[in-house]
Amino acid sequence: MSLVVTGTVGIDSVYTPTGHAEKVLGGSCTYFSAAASFYTPVKLVAAVGGDFAPSYREVFKTFPNIDISGLESRPASKTFAWGGKYHANMDSRETLFTELGVLTEAPPPVPAAHTSSEYVFLANSHPGVQLSFLRQFPKRKLAVADTMDLWINIAKDDLKALLNEVDGLVLNYDEAELFTGKQNPVTAAKQIIAESKLTFVVVKKGEHGCLFVHKDGVAMLPAYPAEQVIDPTGAGDTFAGGMMGYIAANHAHHAVKDRVHFEVIQKALAHGTVVASFNIESFTLSRLLTLKKAELDARYAEFAKMVRV
Ligand code: AMP
Repeated sequence: MSLVVTGTVGIDSVYTPTGHAEKVLGGSCTYFSAAASFYTPVKLVAAVGGDFAPSYREVFKTFPNIDISGLESRPASKTFAWGGKYHANMDSRETLFTELGVLTEAPPPVPAAHTSSEYVFLANSHPGVQLSFLRQFPKRKLAVADTMDLWINIAKDDLKALLNEVDGLVLNYDEAELFTGKQNPVTAAKQIIAESKLTFVVVKKGEHGCLFVHKDGVAMLPAYPAEQVIDPTGAGDTFAGGMMGYIAANHAHHAVKDRVHFEVIQKALAHGTVVASFNIESFTLSRLLTLKKAELDARYAEFAKMVRV
């Protein structure tokens, strides 16, 4: 229980081959917390600026399991904003702009009531900010970080320092190569583990699923074979949200000497895959806003049958 996340709460402008959405609610910890909230209560810690309209804040209230008491408002600042354009196959995208806004300022304070959280997720943000956040959770049982090309390019040393204090890392295939110089994702993930204190690395490859490299073994999981892809934005964050939400809700029953069991994470990855498959059916959080737990459970059962060998 007690899952906490920090990252970006932002304003996205997204262009895909099917259409576009301008200035919609986005951000790494927005998507993460929406997905995790289907499994367990989640506390979000982030900062937004004066341009963060009340209607964006209202969206969070639609998810009863998201605690936004740690969402700090800074009237004189600007909210993180990101623009992205997807290529025809929807699997790759280019960043049109990144306006860091509040991310260039002091990180948001962690409410005292949140500091006893046991499960910590560091959604995409500056690794230095991720590290200072992490250190405020002395009772943590599992901490996992996400990262991306921007941070590997501009803050690699901070990222390396972070990987000496978290248990898991989630990143894309391209980013694993950028970080290590190794094209083979298994080799890249093993190298990242060998050079850090990490127990596991999850390497994501969009519609091709993910590779899971753990000190206790290696596993692969396909993506859900989705037919309706409207906007892949947030796929990685909702994948991580489903994964961490499932672990936070179930780890207590499966702990092995304080280390989260390989099989628990493997199953958690399947939950993350299924939540992400719903998220990509719409722009922004629209599909997750209408998603029912019964629909999620039904697709999970379908997916579990598909991957059984
Ligand atoms: P994903 O598609 O899972 O990679 O996540 C996309 C979300 O991440 C968007 O809603 C963006 O607002 C947010 N985002 C994009 N770039 C960054 C960045 N450099 N740091 C943190 N969040 C970002």
